[in-house]
Amino acid sequence: MMTIMEFSNVIAIDGPSGSGKSTLAKRLAAELNLLYIDTGSMYRALALKASEESLSTVSPPEEELKKFLAKINLRYLGNLSDKLIEIDGVDFTAKIRGHQVSELASNFSKITMVRDFLTDVQRKLASEKIVVMEGRDIGTVVFPNAFCKIFLSASSEVRAKRRWLELNERGQNIDLDVVLKDIEQRDHKDINRDTAPLKKAIDAHEIDSSDKDQEQVLALIKEIVKKTATEKGIDFI
Ligand code: C5P
Repeated sequence: MMTIMEFSNVIAIDGPSGSGKSTLAKRLAAELNLLYIDTGSMYRALALKASEESLSTVSPPEEELKKFLAKINLRYLGNLSDKLIEIDGVDFTAKIRGHQVSELASNFSKITMVRDFLTDVQRKLASEKIVVMEGRDIGTVVFPNAFCKIFLSASSEVRAKRRWLELNERGQNIDLDVVLKDIEQRDHKDINRDTAPLKKAIDAHEIDSSDKDQEQVLALIKEIVKKTATEKGIDFI
């Protein structure tokens, strides 16, 4: 595997909630035998841990937040293990997917100190090997020199339907209208926050998946990754 000098070892996949980035990033990583990094799981786990410790996820006192982050031991395992993420030795994989945790994460992720902490974790994970990393700000802030950037989008109605089906499969019966409203509110917060807002990097390839199925989008992503890797002389495929 060649080391990339001028580019980061990262295939960055960004996009709003329900754009399909987790599923696609996971499948791409599995096919290319790369580490899959779900940065949303980090915001979720950290926010849930804060809430378990009765620390506000909306406006935590600065000193308390500092202390909280200083003692946190966050371990991201990704697709190399059956556990995605651990905090202080406790497996957080299953408990971070609930509807309430989305809200906690959406609030906590607005805080600059929280973002700086997780940006650091994310940069360290990609320091040695090529990774597929998905989130909101990977191609813009965390790895502005990622060698390949994809921005996934889809209409809010399509995204809400996908999220609703996913929650139903997990036994959470929530009205589609509630999920749609929630997605629109989260989009609004993600797009309008001061630090690292959700936006497409200028050099990202945008794919609108509203009228495409998973196989079609995956095929498009693979084509872009291969083309970009070839153009930049990166030979890992
Ligand atoms: O992607 P997921 O829905 O799991 O992310 C949960 C929340 O974490 C998002 O609503 C967003 O506010 C935040 N997030 C973020 N930056 C990332 C990943 C997630 O702000 N890179």
